[in-house]
Amino acid sequence: MLKYIEISKIVFKFDKASALYNAKLNFTLQEKEKEAHLLKEKNKEFEVINEELKQFTYITSHDLKEPIRSLNNYVQLLIRSFKTEINPQQKEYLNYIELFSSRIFALIKDLNQYIQVQEPVEIGQVDLNKTIHILKDNLSLLIKERNVVIKFSKLPEIKAPESHMHDLFLNLLQNAIKYNKSKTPKIKIDSFTSNKEIIISVNDNGIGIPKKNQVEIFEVFKRLHAKTDYEGTGIGLAICKKIVEQNNGRIWVESEENKGSTFFISFLKSKQK
Ligand code: ADP
Repeated sequence: MLKYIEISKIVFKFDKASALYNAKLNFTLQEKEKEAHLLKEKNKEFEVINEELKQFTYITSHDLKEPIRSLNNYVQLLIRSFKTEINPQQKEYLNYIELFSSRIFALIKDLNQYIQVQEPVEIGQVDLNKTIHILKDNLSLLIKERNVVIKFSKLPEIKAPESHMHDLFLNLLQNAIKYNKSKTPKIKIDSFTSNKEIIISVNDNGIGIPKKNQVEIFEVFKRLHAKTDYEGTGIGLAICKKIVEQNNGRIWVESEENKGSTFFISFLKSKQK
């Protein structure tokens, strides 16, 4: 009898503890559900804001492009038509207007390109050998002018939008030529593989990048030089990073000041099938 009372006391205690535990569990579950619901709502809000922001930037940059292009054309026309009538100071002012409007135009163009990276585009098998051949053709004037030598070993095919690969390597090649004081800028493009990745490297014999800046240069508007030394918008490498990440890859640089830089781009093998 005594034993029965003790056992029922224990059972009672156990029942109470388990009821308490269940109540606590229910409460935590309800709290978690509430949190998940709130998170979902916030996510929806962010998606709307993000979409609005995208539309806003797209429309403003599109609408700004034309007037800036016209302004630039008219200034050039003015300089040409009044060549003999304007004094050197007036010519200098007009040249400044032309320079600044060209900078605004370049900025709008690059911003537009940056936004467009996330737009859906057709994915195909891109032969990087062809991409580099096309780019060499497109840049032939600059290559000749700067005495550039571009060499590349057999490059792989990458599953990605063709325009992405074109813009990625265009930015890297242009930078390799621009940030280079050598009489013969040399660019070498190679590829190799690791366990999980296909890696492409773009090496130059340019001015190099200090160690402390090697991560931040991939951020939008991050530049290491004055516009008077090297023209640019500071968006090129941010475009490269966005393109690479959009295609499940990584981009980084290894560089030594005054010796040159090597940009590495890797793509996951598992995403190439
Ligand atoms: P931009 O060239 O328009 O300034 P980028 O985003 O392409 O913008 O590059 C960011 C910065 O990284 C550049 O201002 C430059 O300082 C540095 N950089 C990029 N590529 C190279 C390179 N190949 N060699 C040396 N510095 C480079």
